Amino acid sequence: MATISKASQNKTGFFNSIVTRLSALFIAIIAVLLLLINTYFLTASRNMMFTSKQTSLETQASVISTSLSALDHLSKENVSQVFDILEVRDFARVVVVDPSGEELYSSRKDNDNISDSQIDEHLQRALAGRDVFYSRFYDDAFSSSISVPVMIGGVTAGAFCMSERDSEQGAVLIGLQDRARNLSIIIAALTVIATLIVLRMTMQRINKIMDAIVMVREGEYEYRIRVTGNDELTRLSSEFNDLTSRLQETEERRQQFVADASHELKTPLASIRLLSDSILQNDTMPEEMTREFITDIGNEASRLARTTEKLISLTRLDNNITPDRSRMDVAESVRSTLRLLQPLADERSVNISSELEPNCFVYASDDELRHITLNLIENAIKYNHDGGEIGIKLKEADGIVRFTVEDTGVGIPEEDLPHIFDRFYRVDKARSREAGGSGLGLAIVRSTVDELGAHISAERRAEGGMRFTVDFPCCPADPDSGSESE
Ligand code: ADP
Repeated sequence: MATISKASQNKTGFFNSIVTRLSALFIAIIAVLLLLINTYFLTASRNMMFTSKQTSLETQASVISTSLSALDHLSKENVSQVFDILEVRDFARVVVVDPSGEELYSSRKDNDNISDSQIDEHLQRALAGRDVFYSRFYDDAFSSSISVPVMIGGVTAGAFCMSERDSEQGAVLIGLQDRARNLSIIIAALTVIATLIVLRMTMQRINKIMDAIVMVREGEYEYRIRVTGNDELTRLSSEFNDLTSRLQETEERRQQFVADASHELKTPLASIRLLSDSILQNDTMPEEMTREFITDIGNEASRLARTTEKLISLTRLDNNITPDRSRMDVAESVRSTLRLLQPLADERSVNISSELEPNCFVYASDDELRHITLNLIENAIKYNHDGGEIGIKLKEADGIVRFTVEDTGVGIPEEDLPHIFDRFYRVDKARSREAGGSGLGLAIVRSTVDELGAHISAERRAEGGMRFTVDFPCCPADPDSGSESE
């Protein structure tokens, strides 16, 4: 439990958390987007309304302009008559001026939110021959005016301006604006809530993985993440679980190895201690017996040395220290091993026959080949009957160099076969110990074979005894030094 609380203590601060940062980023993006959409939408609808206002005012101005142009001149009386006939009541104001700017006609003055000075300025520009349209959205309404010149006989006889205030269209625009704003608020709120929920859920899962990593780091190798869903985090969790399983396996193997190795070293040490104590405590021990005890001490010491040497070899293999490899003739290594083991074979009256084909080259180091040939042939002698036979074959076919060691010895029971390559595994403990074995020889062979990309198999011979077969990938002759294979 202490480890869980430690994991929780490591939680990231609020402002450093990915959730806070991603939420802030998301919310900022949504806010900017909604603002842009709202602004664009409202500006576009306002411009559309301005355009429709301009069209409608221009149409009406053209009717008035045509009527006024039909007069032979503009005077207060005839202009009033024209406007009486036209009944232009919908406008906030209508003003007609002569070329000097003198007012000839002015209708009632409703509030159109356009100042008199602006109207005067527009009329001046109309007298100069230009149509002037003006519109603005103010006080919840559209205030628009149009000022046009009145032409009689090709001469500017005056100008008129009419203005209006349209609060109906204004209400439509305000309605649109309100609806767009309300919709934006709803979208923003939903987005924020959804973002926070999704990010929170994601962070909870990431935190679970982080907690699990801390737990495993603290040594709780059996801890697993509960895997749900089918996304990247699910994959990460199951990869983590697989990794933890492998770690757990390695750790268990390591612990087992240390326990076995200590036991293996402890046994001969205890024997040495016992034998030396016996010699020391027994003053009257006959010399012959003392010699026997000292010989036993020597044997135990040799066994210790052999076991230590094998442990060192295994550690080297475990640490993947790549030895100096080159193109090696396996027959050479076998012959050298046979020379070394011949005295042991003679001691047991074991007859060794070998058929070693030439040109069986593999890519390996001298030590690696020695590990394989020495352990297999030594076992064939150690676990043979006195006067037994050993057959060694080496041949090359289809790119495979096959090395076989057969013996007529005690053999290995079928149920033990799957375990013989395990570290410290012995089929017959007493016999192995007697033969000076440590249960590490075949484990070294297996690790070496794996390192070389080769393959090893063990089978019981029908006639009794064992057959060990190693298949190496053949190392073809280097084209630059082709003569070597001959
Ligand atoms: P050891 O150092 O005890 O010989 P190994 O790893 O070389 O350890 O072999 C493991 C066990 O497999 C041995 O203890 C022995 O019981 C059995 N074994 C290995 N080779 C043979 C063989 N050729 N015939 C019978 N038993 C064998």
